[in-house]
Amino acid sequence: ELSQRMSERAVDVIKFLMKEGQMMKPGDLIDADLAELIAGEFGHTVKRVSESDVEEGIFNVADDEADLESRPPIVTIMGHVDHGKTSLLDAIRHANVVAGEAGGITQHIGAYQVEQNGHKITFIDTPGHAAFTAMRARGAQATDIAILVVAADDSVMPQTIESINHAKAAGVPIIVAINKIDKPTANPQKVRTELLQHEVFVESMGGETLDVEVSAKNGTNLDKLLEAILLQAEILDLKANPNRTAEGVVVEAQLDRGRGAVATVLVQTGTLKPGQIIVAGDQWGRVRALVNDKGDHVKEAGPSMPVEVLGLSGTPAAGDKFAVVENESRAREISEYRQRLAREKQVARQAGSRGSLEQMMNQLQSSGMKEFPLLVKGDVQGSIEAISGALEKLGTDEVRVRIVHSGAGAITESDISLAEASNAAIIGFNVRANAQARSAAERAGIEIRYYNIIYDLVDDVKAAMSGLLSPER
Ligand code: GDP
Repeated sequence: ELSQRMSERAVDVIKFLMKEGQMMKPGDLIDADLAELIAGEFGHTVKRVSESDVEEGIFNVADDEADLESRPPIVTIMGHVDHGKTSLLDAIRHANVVAGEAGGITQHIGAYQVEQNGHKITFIDTPGHAAFTAMRARGAQATDIAILVVAADDSVMPQTIESINHAKAAGVPIIVAINKIDKPTANPQKVRTELLQHEVFVESMGGETLDVEVSAKNGTNLDKLLEAILLQAEILDLKANPNRTAEGVVVEAQLDRGRGAVATVLVQTGTLKPGQIIVAGDQWGRVRALVNDKGDHVKEAGPSMPVEVLGLSGTPAAGDKFAVVENESRAREISEYRQRLAREKQVARQAGSRGSLEQMMNQLQSSGMKEFPLLVKGDVQGSIEAISGALEKLGTDEVRVRIVHSGAGAITESDISLAEASNAAIIGFNVRANAQARSAAERAGIEIRYYNIIYDLVDDVKAAMSGLLSPER
């Protein structure tokens, strides 16, 4: 790639490297110093740019407090399978369409917006924590509030606990929707009590977490749930500046036969308009049209508003950030830079996994963090508790283990994405990763450590942690 950019033959660059005693082949990764040396040798002048140079003024542009206006909350629905996530999403959407504009058939574009007492609320249409955490693993936090659905005729289940941990890891407040209260066997109080064990304290139990009893089937208390969301949003004091160029996040994207690349984005700040040029992940394009969740073409999309964007060169990934840029050449430059970055990351991942205990230690050390995030999966609850207890005891004033999630059963894809998003290492005790999880771990470069003796496990973590302790100790 360097030789290409210098318009030199790759073989000449390789030859030069050989002369310098470096045996390399095309596609090998070189660092900036070596690149500069080579470029100089071939008579090129080098200007070093950093990520912030290429993308300067495009992403994460700060606003003046005075320009901020309140914006709608963005909500994700999570919970155990069959507890009614999809039903609840559909019921809320349906109730709103009936109450709202006549004949408005909502389109599934990945997110939709409803109105309650004149206030808008945005729902992400993919229920569950997998999409939520996958987006977070890409560096995007699109969700402001998580609705935790628990069926009143069932209990707190493994994915309920996962959802709680995923939301907590993201620092996103939870509202509990106790669903299926129409069922004769419904026991909402049991749900509240069970949640206590997982440190979700609802108001009637002396906590601050809002909870609402609903029936997605009968449409009971949906308005109460929406009001709870608005109340939580008010507490969060969500704000954005609508009067600036837009930035936001991609919720989903696909190639449509008739319309080309279609990406559903959530505007997080600013206002997006047709005709503007955007970069989304490593793709770019001029916005040909904006289509809202009712299928209507719109002239603009402000903060928290989901819209389909037509006109991109290709499909970005869910969780990619997008931003408006001033012209095509800038857009091309950024997208090329990002494609290059992605390739380099791939190479780096092949070279070594970032999830290995040693590497994590180095990372933590250089970031000055004194917490060691771990995800622990085990065969039975008893052994997990023993391991968690032992690991937590290793903590000192300087450094401690933080268990982002633990549970019984095989290591799954969802565990990998949580580990990726939380920068955690994964420990399997008498359990293995399933095939999907293994390939996800490989893709993400996360190492999974397997143990069958608690002593070995604790010893390894202790050794890794001692590297984190200050040198004087
Ligand atoms: P998900 O897997 O969490 O998305 O759950 P679904 O929305 O697919 O619902 C699972 C099952 O529970 C379906 O058969 C729904 O019809 C049923 N269900 C969902 N909400 C309710 C409810 O409020 N009351 C009753 N009785 N059944 C419900």
